[in-house]
Amino acid sequence: MIERQQLYEGKAKVIFEGPEDGTLIQFFKDDATAFNAKKKDIIKGKGVLNNYISEHIMRAVEQIGIPTHFLKRLNNREQLIRKLEIIPVEIVVRNVAAGSICPRLGIEEGVALPNTLVEFCLKDDRLGDPIIAAEHIITFGWANTDELNVIYEDTLRINDFLTGLFHGIGVRLIDFKLEFGRAQSNDRVEVLLADEISPDNCRLWDAQSNKKMDKDRFRRDLGGLIDAYQEIARRLGVSVPDMS
Ligand code: ADP
Ligand code: UDP
Repeated sequence: MIERQQLYEGKAKVIFEGPEDGTLIQFFKDDATAFNAKKKDIIKGKGVLNNYISEHIMRAVEQIGIPTHFLKRLNNREQLIRKLEIIPVEIVVRNVAAGSICPRLGIEEGVALPNTLVEFCLKDDRLGDPIIAAEHIITFGWANTDELNVIYEDTLRINDFLTGLFHGIGVRLIDFKLEFGRAQSNDRVEVLLADEISPDNCRLWDAQSNKKMDKDRFRRDLGGLIDAYQEIARRLGVSVPDMS
């Protein structure tokens, strides 16, 4: 058995040192958390589903020319990824009002927004990931203007692309969260899409019934999370071994 060093354990994933310089291994756990980890559970098979679904989506995003950290899936729970310096900003994209924006701004869940709304949150669990403006990102040096422009343009392209991809399988992409990071490529710094895109960090509603097919099934105690994630995988044409 090869010994590898654990670098970080997060709420949903563990990060290990990769086999070569500049690489990491991302391990998908079955842990589910919500409300800044105040609510916790283990949902057998969730990590495997997210690993396969995120692989599928990262590959698709790469195909439209947006660079991502994804290198290859190693097994049911692990991916080889490029090691990035994570930009400590969560980019939240909203097409339809749901989740935290509803109580924050007094908007009813399910209201379609007149345009795509991009919000930024500081990635800091101790502070509860507070919402910030682009000006905060520049002022505090979390990213520079060029990086922020790349992030913003890539985010809008990813939203357009994924909205269409999910529409094609009868699913509405309500909102989602992205993370980006930097890597040194030859003599310049490149900004790449990082982390994961899965039903853990997207809101996905069935187009016919508006049934929730994402982590809100856990947040709101609706049950049937694995069935919903399996159905997303099935519709995407991703075959995932059943570990539930
Ligand atoms: P959290 O840290 O919010 O609890 P996770 O459990 O998903 O989240 O842990 C994964 C961690 O790995 C996150 O902090 C994420 O920012 C980080 N990460 C994702 N992709 C990369 C990458 N390519 N390089 C370095 N760190 C990454
Ligand atoms: N999101 C996420 N991680 C976070 C916060 C949000 O993946 O730390 C995702 C969430 O799954 C949803 C979108 O970003 O798809 C918008 O989330 P919201 O701000 O409504 O927060 P939440 O409902 O998680 O409180």
